[in-house]
Amino acid sequence: MIDDIDQIKNEALEKIKSAKNESDILDLKGQLLGKQGLITSLLKKIPEVPIEDRPEFGKKINILKSIVSDKIDSQLASLKVSAKTGRIDSTLPARASWLGSRHPISALVDQIIHVFYGMGFEVASGPDIETEYYNFDALNTPDDHPSRDINDTFYIADGTLLRTQTSPVQIRVMEKQEPPVRIIAPGRCYRRDTIDASHHILFTQVEGLYVDKDVTLADLKGLLTIFAKRILGPEVKIRFRPHFFPFTEPSVEYDFSCMLCNMKGCSVCGYTGWVEISGAGMVDPAVFNEVGYDPDKWKGYAFGMGVERIAMIKYGINDIRLFLENDLRFLKQFHF
Ligand SMILES: [Zn+2]
Repeated sequence: MIDDIDQIKNEALEKIKSAKNESDILDLKGQLLGKQGLITSLLKKIPEVPIEDRPEFGKKINILKSIVSDKIDSQLASLKVSAKTGRIDSTLPARASWLGSRHPISALVDQIIHVFYGMGFEVASGPDIETEYYNFDALNTPDDHPSRDINDTFYIADGTLLRTQTSPVQIRVMEKQEPPVRIIAPGRCYRRDTIDASHHILFTQVEGLYVDKDVTLADLKGLLTIFAKRILGPEVKIRFRPHFFPFTEPSVEYDFSCMLCNMKGCSVCGYTGWVEISGAGMVDPAVFNEVGYDPDKWKGYAFGMGVERIAMIKYGINDIRLFLENDLRFLKQFHF
């Protein structure tokens, strides 16, 4: 009789598994565990078993009872769930889960910070909502300068605005710190602009400022050249073009050679072979006066860089809008 128990167990488990609904399983429960049920009747037969086999027989029946009872409960629970949520097909593959990855701009900002860390720069930050003083006045911007225009800048109220550049961070740092200063300030900037493939109202800049004795424009060109090679590769070239900014004198705009077309001309570089990155120059003495630095004693250079522009030539992207659209087909191409 002991040997029959395993067979009874296998048959019972098979029936439980194939039960299709709640009433099937409750019927089975009665047939197996009810007063007249199979397992109950086995328990009643214990006295008929030879005395030396009774402990093993009793133990096996109790184990059988507990296994069958657990299986009935779990099958009942899962039938109740599938009755509520619809049919569950346990043979279907599990739904895949995706691991998120970093946004290409955040990852590139980190790479840029890493390169400047290696050259002795520290990271500084400032608020996105700035005052006119820090965004324009302290940076020697005349009252009638076009960048102050309501059509170029998002004004909020009472002399506050969304910063149009990360340059206000320079002023905030110099106000608090005596020279020498060597900082970069990554952050978002906002400008009223017509959105197209190469312009957006929201973009990322990294600002740099170096103040010390005997700093020259040649140092700035050397720094930006090393930076460009570390981020874009040893073949990249850099060029300065004379320009005007209120807070630097002399001022330049600088370009990196287009790595996408090897300077042959493509849509990203506007068929010129060069991509404009941003502006730079030697800090204007008027700015030093504003923060209380002696312009006869200290010299400095400042530069900005458009991170999206660098990302476009680094990754071969011809439309700046893609960075802000959160299209997963675009973002999934980057793995950082
Ligand atoms: Zn190109």
